[in-house]
Amino acid sequence: MEYIPTIGLEIHCELKTASKMFCSCPNDPDAKEPNTNICPVCLGHPGTLPVANAEAIRLTRLVGLALNSEILEHSKFDRKNYFYPDLPKGYQISQYDRPLCLGGCLEVNDNGQIKKIGITRVHLEEDTGKLMHTENKDHSLVDFNRGGVPLMELVTDPDIENSNQAREFVKELQLILRYLGASDADMEKGQLRVEVNISMGKIGAGGKKQLGTKVEIKNLNSLKAVEGSVAYEIGRQTVMIKNGQKVAQETRGWNEFTGQTFSQREKEEANDYRYFPEPDIPPLTITPEEIKKLKSIVGELPAKKRIRFAHQYRLDAPTAEIFVANRDLGEYFEKAVSELEEWANNEEGDKSNTEAESRDLARLCANYLATDVLGILQSAPFREDNFPATPENFAEFICLIHKKEISSKIAKQVLAQMAKFGGDPTQIIRDKGLSQISSKGEIGKVVIQVLAENEKAAADWRAGKQNAFQFLIGQVLAATRGRANPDMVKDILLEKLSESKS
Ligand SMILES: [Zn+2]
Repeated sequence: MEYIPTIGLEIHCELKTASKMFCSCPNDPDAKEPNTNICPVCLGHPGTLPVANAEAIRLTRLVGLALNSEILEHSKFDRKNYFYPDLPKGYQISQYDRPLCLGGCLEVNDNGQIKKIGITRVHLEEDTGKLMHTENKDHSLVDFNRGGVPLMELVTDPDIENSNQAREFVKELQLILRYLGASDADMEKGQLRVEVNISMGKIGAGGKKQLGTKVEIKNLNSLKAVEGSVAYEIGRQTVMIKNGQKVAQETRGWNEFTGQTFSQREKEEANDYRYFPEPDIPPLTITPEEIKKLKSIVGELPAKKRIRFAHQYRLDAPTAEIFVANRDLGEYFEKAVSELEEWANNEEGDKSNTEAESRDLARLCANYLATDVLGILQSAPFREDNFPATPENFAEFICLIHKKEISSKIAKQVLAQMAKFGGDPTQIIRDKGLSQISSKGEIGKVVIQVLAENEKAAADWRAGKQNAFQFLIGQVLAATRGRANPDMVKDILLEKLSESKS
């Protein structure tokens, strides 16, 4: 490629704390009534004193530790001075030269290739209010409920090379924020907001990259918007440069309907925010011991879990990813598997293949959770406290399938019942009369009846049509409402067909 992109991200994330950043107002992202969660502090009344939210500081440092950042032992807040109607104080409390976290990196999977993306810094600030413009645009209203909500800002190094890496970075960060309980990071709700900086440069003499004009794309509120806008800008800027046009240094927006970026405003003079240390908040300090203690509670992060699930349970990458992305489902899976392992270990008889059996059980359990259970829930997220069947019930259900005590058809009926009301699967089978028919005589009777009613299919089979056999199996299973043991049906059907043939 003649021109290569240089891409960096600036990500803002609202933290999940009970109260706002510098006052005790509730931090409620779902507040409907405007200007209800406000007080003199977050409205910036003169004479009020901000008090920093310790939980927000702790969560930001936790994110830094998860991203391999250095946690600064001495940090501070600064005032960023600018005027805008959604900023009642006339300045935003942010961090300038001593952020909470410095440096770091995050690895993303770029279509099978691991790409390490550097992180410049992670700091803490406060969110602004929200402006709402009336329909005829003759005036605007402002809601300060969001004003003063703890806002974490993360800036990446300009390491990103394509639209997929940009998307994967945001996706992985979103997952980490959720694992740490730092934020729900719902992009649609504006809890995670992305800005892209992108320029196209030529590879100069000696393979050195020359930087082009930097364009900013603001307010990207979905993964699709991040990926789409980057891909579009790479194309747009490349064509312009090739045609000898000059790329303007500007801020652009993203139109999700047309799939294009559009010019919002030309770059004005560089803003001078006249940063200075916030005089009302003491500097922030943390000792190496406290950092160590905090690091110990970071826990298992998505990247580690992905590898562990693939190894420990021999799951394929897409299935493992379902359990990593849906943490509750992953935990439920592990609880059910531990029950299954216990069962396999306690089973009588040959112990030589216990390990192989455990692996089969884990895979069967994974498939039923990732396919059938998620299918029943449709697009609703799996939450263990909302799912009526306990992991013990679920493990027993998997055992019944594994031991071929129920067919996959019956399994679906039992699972539907368990997903709605919970309960012991063996009990459900008994109550609903779903137990398997494994009596040779009983199945034989049904087979004879089915053959009598389907003479043409039987004749087709004799004429060599294999499909007819599948059809006849289906008829026997249907006649027993799926309860006949499928292996026995096959054997008996073959036996009866052969008998009548001779
Ligand atoms: Zn307040």
